[in-house]
Amino acid sequence: MQQTIDIEALCAERGLRITDQRRVIARVLSESQDHPDVDKLHARAAVIDPRISIATVYRTVRLFEEAGILDRHDFGDGRARYEAAPEAHHDHMIDVETGRVIEFVDPELEALQRQIAERLGYRLVDHRLELFGVALVRPPHNGPGEAG
Ligand SMILES: [Zn+2]
Repeated sequence: MQQTIDIEALCAERGLRITDQRRVIARVLSESQDHPDVDKLHARAAVIDPRISIATVYRTVRLFEEAGILDRHDFGDGRARYEAAPEAHHDHMIDVETGRVIEFVDPELEALQRQIAERLGYRLVDHRLELFGVALVRPPHNGPGEAG
C-alpha cells in the first residue's frame, strides 16, 4: 500500500542473487505506488538503465514472484499487474472504465470470510478479492473545447 517495501533487502534475505539490472527493477517496484504491468515497469526501469530489456523485466518479476516478494494481480484487462507483497493484507476495487485501482481493508469482510471458511471446515490462510465497478459520480469533463 502506501509504505515502501525494500525489495532489494528482501532479495538478500531470501538469498536471491542481485545483479545491477535486477537492482534497478527492484528499486522501480519498491517506489511504485500503483500496480504497474510489465510494460510500465520496463518504461520506468529503462529511464534508469536503457540496457534493460523487456525480457529481463519479465524474467525478474517471475523470479521475485516465485520468491514471494511480489504479488501478481489480474485486474480484468488481461495484463498481469505487480506490487511488492504487502506485510498487511488488502483488497482491491477496480474502476473498469479508467483502470484506477483503490486499495481497501474491511474488518467485517475479513471476519465474514473467516466464518465462511470455518463453516466449510477450513481455517482461512489467504484470500484475494477484486471488486469491479463504475464510478457513481464521474469527474466533470473540462478538457479544452468541451462544452457541457
Ligand atoms: Zn494493492
